[in-house]
Amino acid sequence: MGYPVQRPRRLRQNEAIRGLVRENELSVGKLILPLFAVPGRGVRREIPSLPGTYQMSIDHLVEEAAAVRDTGIPAVLLFGVPDTKDELASGAYAADGIVQQTIRLLKRAVRDLIVITDVCGCEYTTSGHCGYIRDGYLDNDASLDLIAKITLSHAEAGADIVAPACMLDGQIQRMRQALDDRGFSNLPIMSYAAKFASRLYDPFFKEGTHSTLAFGDKKTHQMDFANSDEAMREIGLDIEEGADIIIVKPALFCLDIVSRAKSQFHMPVAAYNVSGEYAMIDGAARLGRLNCDEIMLEALTAIRRAGADLIITYFAKRAAELLQRHDKDLSSHIDRAAVEEALGALA
Ligand SMILES: [Zn+2]
Repeated sequence: MGYPVQRPRRLRQNEAIRGLVRENELSVGKLILPLFAVPGRGVRREIPSLPGTYQMSIDHLVEEAAAVRDTGIPAVLLFGVPDTKDELASGAYAADGIVQQTIRLLKRAVRDLIVITDVCGCEYTTSGHCGYIRDGYLDNDASLDLIAKITLSHAEAGADIVAPACMLDGQIQRMRQALDDRGFSNLPIMSYAAKFASRLYDPFFKEGTHSTLAFGDKKTHQMDFANSDEAMREIGLDIEEGADIIIVKPALFCLDIVSRAKSQFHMPVAAYNVSGEYAMIDGAARLGRLNCDEIMLEALTAIRRAGADLIITYFAKRAAELLQRHDKDLSSHIDRAAVEEALGALA
């Protein structure tokens, strides 16, 4: 039975009714903001390709973390940008490394903020690669040792969740084992399980962490972006190995992957709305071609609609502000004159 009995526009006639039947809500409590920690004091440098995102020394970073928490954003994803790099990526697992120091301070100073740490070598190796290179190829099993060391150093510093980014084979099992052996069996692993080799990460590596590759590419460990079944196999393996939360990266080009992952595995899924996705929206808005705020909310809602429980995004603070303003606008005002009139009629 169709028209005229069925009129789908009945449920679209005003914002209150649209809101009542809205299927997916973007909420602040599901956003995760990436933060970039640099050594020193008094450093707060805007990342040119990610306007509104800063590299910060811990004094500024702790203030930022508190402000983030005040907006209702529950978690940050922490990246380190070290002063020096070496072949072994030793800064990545040093007890006094930039990420380890930052975790310790954040967990003391802003206790209810969830600190998720990116676990990878690429910000710390001279090659810019995620682990150890042998004959031009990322050596899987040698790099697993590095990943385990980084993981334990983050756990010991007090990280709430560790997020391995490298797409090495056997990575989750190795991390889980290392954590369990050291008494961290309750520390969750949020795995970049379906991470595609994408040029959308360029702003992050070029200007966010200064870790562009000295040679080669990451196509031998990150996935071919033409593949979807492979993403399901990767996710399945990570879950078998002990992953607690699944990340799909990037987000907007992978909404089909997010959707498949959610319906196939019924696990918490996070989508990483990456630097290139941010740069596309921000850049188009600066050219006057798109409305930044509205496109951002549309994009983030689309990621939720695809099935993501959590969204890692450089837009998190801006989105939180807009959502809070929206809630405030909705708070109702009583029409006093109408009340007086109605009470008068009763009397
Ligand atoms: Zn990496």
